[in-house]
Amino acid sequence: MLLAVEDLNVYYGHIHAVKDVSFAIESGEIVALVGSNGAGKSSTIKAVCGLVKPRRGKIMMRDSDITGMRSESIVRVGIGYVPEGRRVFPQMSVLENLMLGAYARRDKSTLAQELETIYGYFPILAQRRNQLAAGLSGGEQQMLALGRALMTRPRLLVLDEPSLGLAPIIVKQVFALLQRLNREEGLAILLVEQNAYAALRIAHRGIVLETGQVRLHGKAADMVKDPEVQALYLGGSSDSPVSSPIDSGTLQQNDLLKTDAKSAVNHQVEK
Ligand code: ATP
Repeated sequence: MLLAVEDLNVYYGHIHAVKDVSFAIESGEIVALVGSNGAGKSSTIKAVCGLVKPRRGKIMMRDSDITGMRSESIVRVGIGYVPEGRRVFPQMSVLENLMLGAYARRDKSTLAQELETIYGYFPILAQRRNQLAAGLSGGEQQMLALGRALMTRPRLLVLDEPSLGLAPIIVKQVFALLQRLNREEGLAILLVEQNAYAALRIAHRGIVLETGQVRLHGKAADMVKDPEVQALYLGGSSDSPVSSPIDSGTLQQNDLLKTDAKSAVNHQVEK
């Protein structure tokens, strides 16, 4: 078992946001945490990443009890976090943003090699390495936030709503890339999404939260076909903008260049 969450409870004052939530993630698994607004998805992963303190429950990462640990220490046990809204540092360059991901690392001997690996996954970041992050489109900023989390060398990557505010074609590319990282690097992924269909399409397992509790869990492929899940969380059908198969997993530079004009148009909206 890579991550085990047992009876997690998160409160904000009197608001009981997460109620006895339990789940586990195996190495190499993609798990989608879906549910409507306010269901407790973000609070659950913030507790896993050390950004909110659970009131009760236990979180284990491999053999370490990480319950209530600070986020800097949680990064060191191998959990990388990509926050909602792609919080990059706009007045820093692409390279400086990426290097921030390596800040907490003790072993820096392989940094140059890892930077090259990340540039291989995101050729657009290599091209723009010396430009300010502020000048990137929303999709490129999401790539940068992802790249920064990868620089922490995670075994588990936790993402909060990576599709939020991005054009459907960019969402498709981001999800294809997550699939590729999972396949090629064996990276485990915990993905919070309101775009439940897109998330379940790439996930091995899905968990549906409702008012802070686990309402359903199971194989993602079964959940996508489940009429109840479709009616409640997939907008009544599988007719999603990212419903076509995500199988290439290859984010070529050309793909991004092709979508650049589109990104530029969406840039205002996404920011
Ligand atoms: P969303 O997609 O809208 O972020 P979510 O499923 O991620 O939804 P959470 O953000 O975890 O849900 O919120 C769960 C509950 O906790 C909601 O009722 C929300 O209003 C409340 N909540 C979240 N953050 C805070 C906070 N910082 N202070 C007070 N209440 C909060």
